[in-house]
Amino acid sequence: MQAPAVGGVRVKHGNGEVVRLARGASLTDFAEKVGADPASLVQVLFHLGEMVTATQSVNEETLQLLATELEYDVQIVSPEDEDRELLQSFDIDFGSDEGGEGDLVKRPPVVTVMGHVDHGKTKLLDAVREANVVAKEAGGITQHIGAYQVTTEVDGEQRAITFVDTPGHEAFTAMRARGAQATDIVILVVAADDGVMPQTIEALNHARAANVPIVVAVNKIDVPSADPAKVRGQLTEYGLVPEEYGGDTMFVDVSAKSRINIDGLLEGVVLTADAALDLRANPNMPAQGIAIEANLDKGRGPVATVLVQRGTLRVGDSMVAGPAYGRVRAMLDEHGDAVEEATPSRPVLVLGLTAVPGAGDKFLVVDDDRMARQIAEKREARARAAANAKRRARRTLEDFMASMEKGETQELLLILKGDVSGSVEALEDALVRIEVGDEVNLRVIDRGVGAINENDVNLAIASNAVIIGFNVRPAGKAGDLAEREGVDVRYYSVIYSAIDDIEAALKGMLKPIYEEVTLGQAEIREIFKSSKVGNIAGCWVTSGLIRRNAKVRLIRDGAVVVDNTELSSLKRFKDDASEVREGFECGLTLNGYNDIKIGDVVEAFELREKPRS
Ligand code: GDP
Repeated sequence: MQAPAVGGVRVKHGNGEVVRLARGASLTDFAEKVGADPASLVQVLFHLGEMVTATQSVNEETLQLLATELEYDVQIVSPEDEDRELLQSFDIDFGSDEGGEGDLVKRPPVVTVMGHVDHGKTKLLDAVREANVVAKEAGGITQHIGAYQVTTEVDGEQRAITFVDTPGHEAFTAMRARGAQATDIVILVVAADDGVMPQTIEALNHARAANVPIVVAVNKIDVPSADPAKVRGQLTEYGLVPEEYGGDTMFVDVSAKSRINIDGLLEGVVLTADAALDLRANPNMPAQGIAIEANLDKGRGPVATVLVQRGTLRVGDSMVAGPAYGRVRAMLDEHGDAVEEATPSRPVLVLGLTAVPGAGDKFLVVDDDRMARQIAEKREARARAAANAKRRARRTLEDFMASMEKGETQELLLILKGDVSGSVEALEDALVRIEVGDEVNLRVIDRGVGAINENDVNLAIASNAVIIGFNVRPAGKAGDLAEREGVDVRYYSVIYSAIDDIEAALKGMLKPIYEEVTLGQAEIREIFKSSKVGNIAGCWVTSGLIRRNAKVRLIRDGAVVVDNTELSSLKRFKDDASEVREGFECGLTLNGYNDIKIGDVVEAFELREKPRS
């Protein structure tokens, strides 16, 4: 129905029709849902006093404002809600344990290791893995499947801990970006010889936002310059108060390299879990959980490491993991051994899926293959729609330049991937050395050797970074993911071309520099009083020229009396003039300034954008 126009714009009105939109939807999304023209919605909002573009994500209030005006009933749904509703339509309640209190059984904590680069996350994960090999005498952890479980003795009891074996924020943020909470406890690694660094705080904030307790591993205590007390003091300032200072965070001094006190750290994790969390799950129900990592294996097809969160996963189960589904053909643990079943907090490698799920995708076991396929197909369709919406909003290098022109972004974030560590280092070295002034920053938030993987893309999504691939290409689904999410990935095989591009982008990010160019001067020789326009200066142009639309200043006895103003008129005799040259007379009035005197000098100047060298 065409309804009365809003501020002259005709838009279809809703008459109370319900519109369901994902959080962070744009006006284009809104328009698609109601069959309107996005541009008209932009105009309606403009008349309501809000200026937004059609593809920009707008907040809920703005959507509500628009909806009220157009008589729609907007309901904001998160992707998680959407998925929950999908599963509910199949009578599945994802995320809650069946039965009552009596059905719940204690489960091991799931831990993610986070911290600043080079503070020892990888080393620590190695140390934990190895410490457990000794404890287990044989086999050891032979496979990297994205997560592993270890045991440690606490108070005479063998306690298991599951480690998500992908160091850094990537896995954590990727999963959180998908609304999947896979981590119970974060181990925050801080090198005692380096102290709290930017990524330490980032990690801390991520953990806080997810409401996950933190155990601090104060690492590298074997280094002579280590100062563990300083780390405690620094983190206290961020509200992470050590137990020994009366707070409730455990700080454990370790050396990942020299394998000092790894057991103490594991104990700290168990104690923190016991004190702060009630980790229980019902093992007697169809399994549910999260995919941690997945890839396409040449021989075995899609393989996915999943973390069981509740229920028990068994060989032969029909499962859905994100948009993938299938019958579990085999399961392997981190030792490469086949297992028949996996209970809560157990990570296993699953074979038998039809496709490769994404990190953070929820998986669940359903009654039969048909149901698995139906759920997977619906998820797939929805993911496609969401990706299309997102692609419009994602940022590219060109967008950076454009947004800098508007004075927005001051920092270009990069993720570097290269074929060998030497080239990555050389590239990073050269990039961070690009000098373009203080206003713009380049920050390499992650770097690594090897193909561009999904973690890289997820990190780019989470932080709006640009990925640079040096002699490498995306692996597995990373290329598709980047494409779907609109992440800017650039490939180079010559360091200089990478540097040139980035330098150009950074320069584009700089606000333009203006330089003043003097156009000319005129001396006031006579003053005519006009009742209409005030005092008119009768001038003689002594040098250069005076231009009607130039900037002017008024100089008296060598001192600037009025600066940076405009002319409100410029005339040659009775006629308006656009400019008057040296050696000619003119009459002019200054904008908003009447107190001129004979002998004053009017100087005209222009601001010109200076090209950056
Ligand atoms: P990540 O970037 O946090 O994963 O850090 P890495 O685990 O790669 O470690 C960075 C560097 O610090 C490597 O050279 C490690 O050998 C070294 N390192 C890690 N832990 C320790 C430690 O406890 N003591 C000493 N001296 N060096 C360590």
